[in-house]
Amino acid sequence: MPFDILEKPICYSTFLTEEDCGAPLKRCTKCRCAWYSSVEEQRANWPLHKKLCKKPDYDMVKKMSLQQCLNSLDKMSSPLTITHNYAIILERVFDLVRNSDVRELEDEWDHEDVGLRLHSYSRLLVRVDDPGDYLKSFYQLAWACPGMPQLLFFSDFRSIALTKMMSDFPNGRPMFHNEEKNASFNEEYNVKEDSSGESIAWFIVGFLVRSCIWGKLTMSSKNDGFGNFRDTKFGHAAIIRLGQIFSSTVLRKCGMSALYPVPSLVLNITREKPDVFLQLLNMGIGLGILRWADQEFGRDSLKVMCNMDLRGLSDDKKLDLLEVLFCIFEKEPKVPWESQSADDFNPWEEASNYQFDGKELIKLSMKLVVNVLNCSKDLKTLLSKGVNRRPECDEFSWFDENSDRKRIILAFLLEKMTLVGRHSMKKLATTLTSWSQIEFWEKMKYAKSALSEESYERYCEQAKYFLNLPD
Ligand SMILES: [Zn+2]
Repeated sequence: MPFDILEKPICYSTFLTEEDCGAPLKRCTKCRCAWYSSVEEQRANWPLHKKLCKKPDYDMVKKMSLQQCLNSLDKMSSPLTITHNYAIILERVFDLVRNSDVRELEDEWDHEDVGLRLHSYSRLLVRVDDPGDYLKSFYQLAWACPGMPQLLFFSDFRSIALTKMMSDFPNGRPMFHNEEKNASFNEEYNVKEDSSGESIAWFIVGFLVRSCIWGKLTMSSKNDGFGNFRDTKFGHAAIIRLGQIFSSTVLRKCGMSALYPVPSLVLNITREKPDVFLQLLNMGIGLGILRWADQEFGRDSLKVMCNMDLRGLSDDKKLDLLEVLFCIFEKEPKVPWESQSADDFNPWEEASNYQFDGKELIKLSMKLVVNVLNCSKDLKTLLSKGVNRRPECDEFSWFDENSDRKRIILAFLLEKMTLVGRHSMKKLATTLTSWSQIEFWEKMKYAKSALSEESYERYCEQAKYFLNLPD
């Protein structure tokens, strides 16, 4: 049912879920969409919520065409014109987008057009002559609208293709030794080409970013995260939700370009709200930052991470960063930043071949590794934890069937590195260089301790194949 998610419990005052609260929430008896963690919170939210507290007109909206929905949304861009149907009309659009053919929607709309239109609803323009927070009352009211917090927190913008693949293969993308089989699998699922989730993300991400930030907009949404923080409960909730989205490999891949406004916001947070930045790092945005490090703002956030005190970062998140960063120093390097094709990238080559300064990024990556190591009190425990880690659901596994091999270098480091004392760039470079010179089949003993049995078997099979290759 398309409107189901709008009934999920989330507190309209604190924006916490039942899981966060550890207790059931109670729903507003009138609209039956709003939920609260306590009577006090309901009272606190009432002055706003009462303006739109009315049961949404599900029967009417579920029959609306895409064009009719967009016509209605066109009119709802101010606190005076927004209605109690705002969130369900958006959900109706999302539903049409999700269930339409990959290319064509009704009335000659295509996904990209709808995405852009939705994006424009999410980032309302400020009157040029108004220096104040002119849009606060709109966003505030929208967050109080029946179904809106659920739409922002629970909307699924996985693409149609990826949703299908994830449900057919709940444990990750299957592995084929045969190139032809791999190619036909890719063709069948077509995950890379499917941008159906992106249109939805254009609204969700854009709306969240402009919920926490106010100020003039520039032409490019890349700068949308710059401006003044709106210190309200919904503004903070928006930051947390964006942190969840940017931490998820799956959502990042499906949101694609719709995530453009996030790196500027993250950089703004590093400068204005360092405590919140650490909280976001503990949620897992570090990998998102690495992925976008070849963009201007991503690189600047990476710089901040290189110099900040990371002692408050959890071991799990430290290990996530180390695993990905170490892939750069493999014999066949894999870089985390993605606008560069990773396939034929050699980080040791001159940077001038690339649009961005690859050497600078390598240096920053090394610096970050050193910082993570130096901010870890007991390095031996950290590394052995990493070697023995078997994450139940590694989101990477839907995109890279060998993603657990990132762990192997941790076993090597555990054996080779001097674990006491401060680590320097020089010491680390020496160790990593020796790692990058080891051949695939020479890593078997490290692979054995770091991989699951099944994965290790695959590794050995491949190693044997390489060994038998004629020179
Ligand atoms: Zn209500």
